Amino acid sequence: MSQKLIIAIDGPVGSGKSTLARRVAALMGYLYIDTGAMYRAVALKALRRGVSFEAGDALAALAGETRIDLRARDGAQQVFLDGEDVTAAIRTPEVAQAASKIAVVPGVRRVLVAEQRRAGEQGGVVMEGRDIGSVVFPDAQLKIFLIASPEIRADRRWREHQQKGDAIDLARTLEEIHERDRRDRERSDSPLVRAKDAVVVDSTAMEPEEVARLVVMLAKELA
Ligand code: C5P
Repeated sequence: MSQKLIIAIDGPVGSGKSTLARRVAALMGYLYIDTGAMYRAVALKALRRGVSFEAGDALAALAGETRIDLRARDGAQQVFLDGEDVTAAIRTPEVAQAASKIAVVPGVRRVLVAEQRRAGEQGGVVMEGRDIGSVVFPDAQLKIFLIASPEIRADRRWREHQQKGDAIDLARTLEEIHERDRRDRERSDSPLVRAKDAVVVDSTAMEPEEVARLVVMLAKELA
């Protein structure tokens, strides 16, 4: 009988993690979990309540009293914050920056990591984020560390913003990406690092479907 794997996908902003994780989950018949959406949901709540990003204890308490539901719908993921559909509301540049600021708070990470472990412990999941292979599931059977050139990453993110009609230019998008990556790499709790046993995949010159097929091939060897 084939084993239900935990597939961890980590990498910097715009490396193509979401597209890859969604596609691999669909091809494997697995659950897709976007952990960045959880940090974004808590950040949105903090912004609305006016909680300072410096107030670690208040942010941790806020995370603890927040219910986040991730629901699969038509191959995409819907995000509910305390029962409210915030799928679109969490995708703004402002919430992205706020998410990366609250993500440095250990108390916030503790709450969200516990939820992520509960959601994935049965296996049969593709979970994407920054610390999935290194912290959330260090024993995941397959770990992918996805990278791409900064120019390609900025371009991808900028196109997403364009499609939604967000007014942000390419240069500002590149700055935004660098800022979030730096914060992710430099924080002391669970920084963005490649787990030693992660397979590094550079998606710069690859089509999304090629990357997905490569990962599924690796997964099938293990399942
Ligand atoms: O993946 P996404 O860009 O939506 O994540 C938003 C922010 O949440 C990231 O910039 C990062 O700081 C944080 N994050 C994290 N750990 C994760 C997932 C996201 O710190 N596992």
